This record gives sequence, C-alpha cells and structure tokens, in this order.
Amino acid sequence: MAQQVADRRDVDFVLHEQLNIEQLSKYEQFVDFNKKTIDMVVSEARNLALKELLPCQKEADEQGCSFKNGTVTVPEVFHRAYAFFREGEWIAMCDDPDWGGQGMPSAVALAANNYFNGANFPFMLHNILSHGAGKLVEFFGTDKQKELFLENMYTGLWGGSMLLTESEAGSDVGALTTKAVKNNNDTYAITGNKIFISSGENNLVENIIHPVLARIEGAPDGTAGISLFLVPKIWVNDDGSFGEFNDMVCTGIEKKMGIHGNPTCSMALGGKGQCRGTLLGQENQGMSAMFVMMNEARLHVGMQGFSCASASY
Ligand SMILES: Cc1cc2nc3c(=O)[nH]c(=O)nc-3n(C[C@H](O)[C@H](O)[C@H](O)COP(=O)(O)OP(=O)(O)OC[C@H]3O[C@@H](n4cnc5c(N)ncnc54)[C@H](O)[C@@H]3O)c2cc1C
Repeated sequence: MAQQVADRRDVDFVLHEQLNIEQLSKYEQFVDFNKKTIDMVVSEARNLALKELLPCQKEADEQGCSFKNGTVTVPEVFHRAYAFFREGEWIAMCDDPDWGGQGMPSAVALAANNYFNGANFPFMLHNILSHGAGKLVEFFGTDKQKELFLENMYTGLWGGSMLLTESEAGSDVGALTTKAVKNNNDTYAITGNKIFISSGENNLVENIIHPVLARIEGAPDGTAGISLFLVPKIWVNDDGSFGEFNDMVCTGIEKKMGIHGNPTCSMALGGKGQCRGTLLGQENQGMSAMFVMMNEARLHVGMQGFSCASASY
C-alpha cells in the first residue's frame, strides 16, 4: 500500500526505536501490549483509515451537514465509516475495558489517531467529543451516572458534546448566563442558549449526552459560580430505558469555511421549561472539571494539526 496519511516506517521508528514502546508490557496494566499486538493495532488503524475514512473525506466535505426542523443530518458516507469505527472499538482506546475501553497505552492510541485524523478529521471530531464527554462521566460521575451513560458513550452507541460557549461568553466563559434551578429531586431545571457546539445535534447516534456549564441560582458571578451538568438529549430512566425528549433543541448550524462534516450547532435548552440535568461533580466546581475535557480537546487539536501536515506531506 502506498504511504498515504502517515509514513509507516516513521510511525514504527518513533514507537519502537525512539520510545521502545513494548517495554510498557512489563507493567501489569499493559501486559497484553507486546510488540506483536502494538504492530497489529497500528496496522488495523492504518487499514481502517486508508480503506474507509480517507475515501469518504472528499464526499463528506462536499455534502456537508444539513439542518432541518431541529435535526442535523451528517454526510451519508459517515454512517458506514462510523459502523466500522465502533466495531473496532476505536473510541475509547486507552480507557477501562470494564466500561468498553481497550486499555491501550496512550502512545499507541496516538499512532492510531495519527492515521484517523490525517484521513478524516471532521469525522474524528464526533468521536473525540464522545470520548471527552465520557471522560468527564468517568472522572466526576456518581456510580449511577457511570452506570447509565459511560459504556454507551465509550462504545459509541451514544455520542457526546461540550456546551460552554454562549453569544456573550466565549473566551470569557465566566460571563455565561445558562441557569440551573434545583428540582424537588436530584435533578436541575436547565435554561439557556449555547452557540458553536460541535456535534451538538446529529443523526449518527441515537442519543447525545451533553456536559453543560451553567450557574446554579444564587451562585457567585464569574467562573467561581459555574457548575457542570449532564444533560441527555433524550432522558434516560433509572433502568436505562429512554424517557421523553429533554427539551434541548438545535436551532441551527453554522456555515463554515471548513470542517463541513462536523456540525457547529446553536442549542436552546429548556425553551419549554422541561430540560433536566444532573450535577456532574461538585457545585461551583464545573470550570475545573470541564478542563479535563478541554485539555484533552486541546491535545487533539495539536494531533489534528500534526496529522494533517503529515498527510499533506
Ligand atoms: C468550529 C468551532 C467549533 C467550536 N466548538 C465548540 C464546542 O463544541 N463547544 C463550545 O462550548 N464552544 C465551541 N466553540 C467556541 C469556541 O470555544 C469559542 O469560539 C472560543 O471560546 C472563543 O470565543 P468567541 O468566538 O466568542 O471569541 P471572543 O472571546 O469574542 O474572542 C475574539 C477575539 O478576541 C480575543 N480576546 C478575547 N478576550 C480577550 C482578552 N481578554 N484580551 C485580549 N484578547 C482577547 C480572542 O483571542 C479572539 O482573537 C467552537 C468554535 C468553533 C469556531
């Protein structure tokens, strides 16, 4: 196979000659990751990237996402790619196998992501958001939140997003006005409007679990008074079955110069007063919790740049 996206010799050099990666297999956590397994993971990632993700990149970019009556349709070709991606369990490569992860060393996952991002990074954005949102549930979720959401997110049955930005709160996220009011149970009523939400709505998955930054009534101004909530698109009952639509409506998508395969959504929460969420982590600690996902996203942006440069070369 011609060297596209990334040069396999370069990847092998970094993993084996520079990092001596298979030495990690002497630790119990990575005992299964000997050289043979690592090479197999990289080969499988490369195959999927070259045979499925790269060929649909151009068509997806040309078709883009479309918006109609609150629903967002992703490029048709993404459905097949997503089915393969889920089947290969690529969303949660480094995470706990008990929750649907593969328990891989990060460096091996980065080598796989190098191929995936270089082949089709708008497609990868959907997966990166699902993973990052899942990580928040893993780090800060109660046992019940983990039970209800985590495996379905890590295996890609459900998607994820991140809702920080508002029209008057971008860099200055502490200015946000989305409000949370405690209900008579362990839920909060959420109201507000968010903009620029990647994968905020899409037809790739049957449910989307949204981490949302909001201010609990009476909390301090600025970032000190921000809490993090888990707000599902479709409510999930205690037994894991679906409840009602959670009054979280996509009101439009941006027309962008690039990344056409990933929708950048405006979202209205609680327009009918029926949007519910549960607190994720501690009250007023939402900003520091959110950094777990934001920092992962920042590293992924670096990886996207590297992978696109590598593919261009
Ligand atoms: C494609 C895309 C996807 C996105 N996805 C998401 C998402 O999934 N979830 C989400 O919550 N948000 C998302 N965002 C929003 C993104 O996080 C914001 O765009 C970002 O926080 C900047 O906010 P802003 O656009 O309001 O710009 P502003 O904050 O208005 O900044 C405009 C300019 O002013 C500068 N500036 C701002 N404050 C200062 C200051 N104090 N001193 C000096 N200079 C300053 C900035 O550097 C920038 O150059 C997305 C944005 C894009 C473009």
